[in-house]
Amino acid sequence: MSFLRYDYLLFDADNTLFDFDRAEEKALLRTLEAFGYPVDGDTQALYRAVNRILWRRLDFGEIRREELVVERFAVFDRVMGGGKDPKALNRFYLDRLAEGDDLLPGAEELCRFLATGFTMALVTNGVAQAQRGRLSRSPLKELFPYVFISEEVGWQKPQREFFQAVSCAMDIRDPRRAVVIGDNLVSDIQGGLNAGFDAIWYNPSGLPNPTSIIPTWIAPSFSALKAYLMG
Ligand SMILES: [Mg+2]
Repeated sequence: MSFLRYDYLLFDADNTLFDFDRAEEKALLRTLEAFGYPVDGDTQALYRAVNRILWRRLDFGEIRREELVVERFAVFDRVMGGGKDPKALNRFYLDRLAEGDDLLPGAEELCRFLATGFTMALVTNGVAQAQRGRLSRSPLKELFPYVFISEEVGWQKPQREFFQAVSCAMDIRDPRRAVVIGDNLVSDIQGGLNAGFDAIWYNPSGLPNPTSIIPTWIAPSFSALKAYLMG
């Protein structure tokens, strides 16, 4: 194995391997429907905007996850006229989200191949209930012996403590032998680099990098990522 660039691959889950956008969309539609909100583009856009702002605040450590998940529905419901229980909304939504186990095209084949040569871990900031549910029904389950979910770890990406917990549990002696692979420049790339790991930005849409964060490498596709890791 030592001829390879890395021994440990630390994969982000959402929008890196799992089609989280699709899972969220399906879960949101079913929640709006079940609670009697209008199921239209404006209503979905409103929820998304509120959710995005709150997750961004979480990335910067300004809000805790337990607050975030209920607060997004509290704010949303207030704008929509109020009267619904945000905790019940969130519970229903997370149950639906836990059912959304769609993978991005090619993700399973990629992981099946990589799992034969690397020690694989999932490192995710998602909500434990949703992530455990999705993973339990996913073919990825058997390919990832290590799964780190921020809610269970007690810290979240990009916090150094999160990656220290990963290092410790996986017994990674030399951080240079490990690489974080993810779509989020702050939580995955900055977090990984801060911990002494390499960090590959998975950027299939060719998004611009508006930050000063410099990834070790940028992967435009799964096939390019595979070639890079094997090279
Ligand atoms: Mg992600």
